[in-house]
Amino acid sequence: MSIAPAFDASTTSLHSEAFPDCAVCGAQGWIPVYQGAVRDGAFGNSRSGAVVAECVGCGVQRLDEASCQDDAVYTDAAYRELLGEAIDTKGFHAAHDPLQLERLNVVNPMTLRDKVIADIGCAAGSFLDFVSGLAHWVVAVEPGKPYQDSLRERGFHVYDFTADALEDCEGSVEHAFSFQVIEHVAAPGAFMSEIAALLAPGGRVTISTPNRDDLLMSLLPEDYPPFFYRTVHRWYFCADSLSRCGRAAGLIPVETRFVHRFGVANTLRWLRERRPGGRDPLPGLDDRALDSVWRDTLAREGTADTIYMTFEKPAN
Ligand SMILES: [Zn+2]
Repeated sequence: MSIAPAFDASTTSLHSEAFPDCAVCGAQGWIPVYQGAVRDGAFGNSRSGAVVAECVGCGVQRLDEASCQDDAVYTDAAYRELLGEAIDTKGFHAAHDPLQLERLNVVNPMTLRDKVIADIGCAAGSFLDFVSGLAHWVVAVEPGKPYQDSLRERGFHVYDFTADALEDCEGSVEHAFSFQVIEHVAAPGAFMSEIAALLAPGGRVTISTPNRDDLLMSLLPEDYPPFFYRTVHRWYFCADSLSRCGRAAGLIPVETRFVHRFGVANTLRWLRERRPGGRDPLPGLDDRALDSVWRDTLAREGTADTIYMTFEKPAN
C-alpha cells in the first residue's frame, strides 16, 4: 500500500470522528493502510488527503468519514450523475441489463421458483426483471426516488430501506440479493442485521462487493489504490472480513465465489498505461478463450475484482 511517511502503519492506531467505533464489530482501533488521493466519481476526478484504515477487530477497511459522500446522494439523481451514468429507468436498463448474466450465473444452480425474493438496493430493477417471472413475491428495496414508480408499475413491492420492508415482510424472504451496495452504506453491521431479520429461517442472502484482494492492488500498489478507493465507498472488504460481517449478524457463510469482469487486456493496459482501459482489447490479445482462462484463474485464486458471498440464516 502507498503509505505516506507522515504516519507509521505499524504503530499508529486511529480513533476519532473520522474513524469512529467499527460499524461491523464495534472495535475501537483502526490501523492506517493508505493515505492520498481517492477517486471521486468517474476516473480523472479525485479527492486528495483521504485516509483508509483497517479495523483491528474484524479486518474491514474504511475511508475516513470526511472523505465519504453524504448518504443523501443515493436518494436523488446526484449519485448516477456523479458516476456519469443515466438517471432515468430506461437509460439505467440499457447500461445494466447486459451485466445481469454474471449475477444469474452466481444464482445457478439455485432456483428462485415460487420463492419470496428481495433485492436490496435494486436501482431500476434490472436483476429483478430477469428473475421475477419465477418468484412468488418480489420485494424491491431502493432509496433512489427516480426509479420507484417504474418498480411499482412492474408489480414489485417497493420500500426505501430494509427497515421499512420489515413491517410487512419480516421473517418471510427466502432469498435476498444485494449487489454492490454494502460498500456504500453507513453501517454494514446494521445493514446485514436488517437483512437477516427479513429472511425466513433457512433463507439465504447473496451479497456482492468489490474485492480488495483484486490482483491489481498488489501488482500496482502505487497507481491502483487511488482508483480502487473512492468517495462513494465507505467500506472495503476481502472475503474474510465480509464473512465476519455476516457472522456478526447471525448468518452463516455457505458459499464464496469470485468473479472477474475484465479480460487480460484490462490488466495489461493498467500495467502499460497506469489507467483503466475498460473492455478495450489489445492487438493480438483479443481472444475469448484466453480471457476465459484469465477470468477463471483470478476467480480460483481469489484475486478477481468482485466477491459474491452467500449466507444462510440458521433454521432455528
Ligand atoms: Zn471491525
